[in-house]
Amino acid sequence: MAKSYDLIIVGAGMVGALSAVLLAKSSLRIALVDKHNGEYRLSTPPEYDARVSAISSQSKSLLEKANVWQGISRDRIASYDNMVVWDGLGEGFIDFNAQATAMPELGHLVENAVLNQQLMAQVRRSANVDLYLGDTLESHELSESGVRVELTSGQVLEAQVIIAADGALSKLRTENAFETVEWDYGHHAIVATIEIAQSHQNTAWQSFGEEGILAFLPLPSVAQKHYVSIVWSVPPKEAELLMALDEQTFCRRLHYAMNKHFDVVGMTQDRQAIPLRQRHAKHYVKAGLALIGDAAHTIHPLAGQGANLGFGDVKALVEVLEKAHRRGESLGASKVLRRYQRARMLDNIAMAAGMEAFKRLFSTQQPLLVQLRNIGMTQFHRNTSLKRKLVARAAGLSSFS
Ligand SMILES: Cc1cc2nc3c(=O)[nH]c(=O)nc-3n(C[C@H](O)[C@H](O)[C@H](O)COP(=O)(O)OP(=O)(O)OC[C@H]3O[C@@H](n4cnc5c(N)ncnc54)[C@H](O)[C@@H]3O)c2cc1C
Repeated sequence: MAKSYDLIIVGAGMVGALSAVLLAKSSLRIALVDKHNGEYRLSTPPEYDARVSAISSQSKSLLEKANVWQGISRDRIASYDNMVVWDGLGEGFIDFNAQATAMPELGHLVENAVLNQQLMAQVRRSANVDLYLGDTLESHELSESGVRVELTSGQVLEAQVIIAADGALSKLRTENAFETVEWDYGHHAIVATIEIAQSHQNTAWQSFGEEGILAFLPLPSVAQKHYVSIVWSVPPKEAELLMALDEQTFCRRLHYAMNKHFDVVGMTQDRQAIPLRQRHAKHYVKAGLALIGDAAHTIHPLAGQGANLGFGDVKALVEVLEKAHRRGESLGASKVLRRYQRARMLDNIAMAAGMEAFKRLFSTQQPLLVQLRNIGMTQFHRNTSLKRKLVARAAGLSSFS
C-alpha cells in the first residue's frame, strides 16, 4: 500500500536535507529519500574533509533558522574576513576586507561532511520527516493532482510534489526531459588539505595564473599549526600530471602557483580531482516536480557559490510552498512551482554567466589582454563602493533580480 505525504524530496545532500528541515517546520509531511545511508564519519583535525564549502552570510542565516549552524562545533568552522585575489601574470591584485564592507566577516569555511552530518542530525529530530535511506528511485509518475514514486526497496510513496535535490547528474531531471545548457569548463579541480608554515591570517587567497586558478581557503589551526583547503582548477591533462606527482614535488608546485607567498609543509590526506562542468536547466519546474541545487545548476567553484545558490533555491522554494500550503493550493500545481522558478532563475543565470566571464578572462595569456586585465584589477581594487557591492552580492545580501 502507498504511504501518503505532502512532499517527497529525492536527495538528502546539503540542499535536500536543508529543504526537509525547513519545510518540516510548517507541519508538512515529508518523505526524504537518498541512496546514501546518511551516516557521515568525521575525520579528526588536522585531517579535514577534502571537500569544504565557503558559506555566505545568507546561507549561514538559513542554517541558523534550521538550527543546524548552532550544532556545528566551533573548531570545525573557520571564518575569513579578508580575500586576496592575484593575477599571477602581472601586478594586478584586489583585496576585499570585511571591515571596509561593513560586514562582521566575509564568510565561513566548513567541511561538507560536517555540514551533512549536522543537517542529517536535524532531519532526524524533525518529527514529520520519514527517512528512506539507502534506497533509490525506481520509477515515478507526475501530474498536477499528485505524484507517485516507487523505490528500489519496493515501497510506494504518494505526495503532491517531488523536489529533485538529487545532484548534478539528477535522474529526475534527465528522465523528465528537462533541457539544459551545458559545457565542460575544461578544468578539473584538485582538492586537498595542506599544512602551511605561516598563518593564513583568516584570509581566502586566490591566484589566477599560468598554473591555473588556485585557492587557499583557511581552516582552523591546530596546536599552532596552520592549514588551508586548496581548490586548484587546471586543464584535465595538467590535473593528471599534478595528481601523479609525489607529495614533496606537488607541495613545491603549490608554493610557486601561490606566488611563493606560503611555504607549504605537506598534505594531511590524499588529493582528489573533480571534473568541472557548467550546467543549467532551461526550466526548473513542471507539474508535480521542482529541481533545486545542483540538480538545477552547477557552476565553476572559483567563487565558492554552488551550494550558496542551492541554499538560495531552498529559501525561495520553502517560501513559495509554505504560502501555497496556507492558501490551500496544490503544492504540485504548475502555477505554484513557477513562482519558485521566477524567484530564482535570473540570479542563478547571472552567477553562472559571471563565473564563465571570470574563467575566460583569467584563462587568456594573450599579452594585451593580460595587461588590460591587470589595469582593470588595479582600478577595481581602488573602487571601494564597487567592491562593497560585489561582496554584498557574494554574501547573498543583494540579488540581480
Ligand atoms: C571543488 C568544488 C568546490 C566547491 N566549493 C564550494 C564552496 O566553497 N561554496 C559553495 O557554496 N559551493 C561549493 N561547491 C559546490 C557545492 O559542493 C555543490 O553545489 C553542493 O554540494 C550541491 O549540493 P546538492 O545537495 O544540490 O547536491 P549533492 O551534494 O550532489 O547531493 C545529491 C544527493 O542526492 C542523492 N541522490 C542522487 N541520485 C539519487 C537517486 N536516484 N535516488 C536517491 N538519492 C539520490 C545523492 O546520494 C546525494 O546525497 C563546490 C563544488 C566543487 C566541485
